Amino acid sequence: MESRAINFGAGPSALPASVLQEATKGLLNFSGTGIGVAEISHRSKEFTAYLQNVEQNIRKLLDIQPTHSILFTQGGGSTQFSAVVLNMLARHRLLHPELKDVDRVLDYVVTGSWSKKAAEEARRLGSIVNIAADSRKSSKDQKSFDNIPTADAYSFSKDPALIYYCANETVDGVEFSHDGTSPASFPFHLLPKNALIPLVGDHSSSFMSRPIHRLSDHAIIYAGAQKNIGPAGLTILIVRNDCIVDVDAAARLGAIPVPICLSYKTLADHNSLYNTPPVLSIYVTGLVLEHMLQLGGLDYYADLTDRKSKKLYDVLKDGEIKGVFKGKVKEGSGSQMNIVFDVLGEGLLARFVAGAEERGMKGIKGHRSVGGVRVSVYNAVTEDETDQLIAYMKQFAEQHE
Ligand code: PMP
Repeated sequence: MESRAINFGAGPSALPASVLQEATKGLLNFSGTGIGVAEISHRSKEFTAYLQNVEQNIRKLLDIQPTHSILFTQGGGSTQFSAVVLNMLARHRLLHPELKDVDRVLDYVVTGSWSKKAAEEARRLGSIVNIAADSRKSSKDQKSFDNIPTADAYSFSKDPALIYYCANETVDGVEFSHDGTSPASFPFHLLPKNALIPLVGDHSSSFMSRPIHRLSDHAIIYAGAQKNIGPAGLTILIVRNDCIVDVDAAARLGAIPVPICLSYKTLADHNSLYNTPPVLSIYVTGLVLEHMLQLGGLDYYADLTDRKSKKLYDVLKDGEIKGVFKGKVKEGSGSQMNIVFDVLGEGLLARFVAGAEERGMKGIKGHRSVGGVRVSVYNAVTEDETDQLIAYMKQFAEQHE
């Protein structure tokens, strides 16, 4: 194989080389059919069997119980900004037909640019949005998404149609903690105890990096495939069965009509094959999931993620002491997938990025809205590749202290 760059891009992002090699075979001949995977009917028995296996592997990896369905769709995370609102408003309407529209509230926890966008879309659709927490209020300069708020910062509504959060903010580099005890954990203890919680999590950029904390308490978890597990084009939904509702019945009671391909019931009733799915993306994702299972599943990836991110935050801290780097986020709130920092000193950011490129390391430039550096260490970025970047960061900090 030709030599490949080390890809620290934020998404689409690195995929395991062995999987890509395997995928080239399927492009020519899928499952012994003599037809390539990009050419075969999504209703062929070979592809439908493949899709079922992908679903089972997701269920296995994340230990998803029969209370939740796994659905496949398209349109990326951004389409779910609208779909979660419409489906959960329909559910709320069926549960509480007597409520006036002004009494239907959606709670959003805003910790970065993706959850902010999601809240804006809810408003665009005419919903009443309560910002249950906004991490800018607890930021150093009152305007940056540089932290995960502590529990005292949240105020949830009494009976919201949904409670929304983003597990990992890909642009800003903050992530809810996974252990459930750190101050940066999602405040599950503040949510209603006895109800079926309408909790919606955007897990796009941390999906499959580790088990999901309190997965069964979620109404909906969604993720685009293009970070940890596959090419863009596929969105994976994990939906608690009470959230797959008859949206047309809800519309007859006054809820917003739901476009047919956005309705979770459409997807569920047709085993995610109401219309043509992103066959190629599903195929590669399926290969990645098999690869993950062979390596030891999410326990393996959780350990790997812990090691890679700890080493990166350690070298960043060293560089801070030397006055060369400056982390952008509060300690304890930092993402394990996307590590964001500034390079201090006139012209040094450009020099750092150029030096990385010369060493075959790509995709580390920060998002245009926040600048600086963003290093994304998704599942397919190996520990050895991460160590190469760490060695470079160390050398750079020593040279410029
Ligand atoms: N949510 C998060 C956390 C993301 O990182 C992204 C994309 N980077 C999105 C949503 C939007 O996803 P898409 O581009 O697939 O619509």
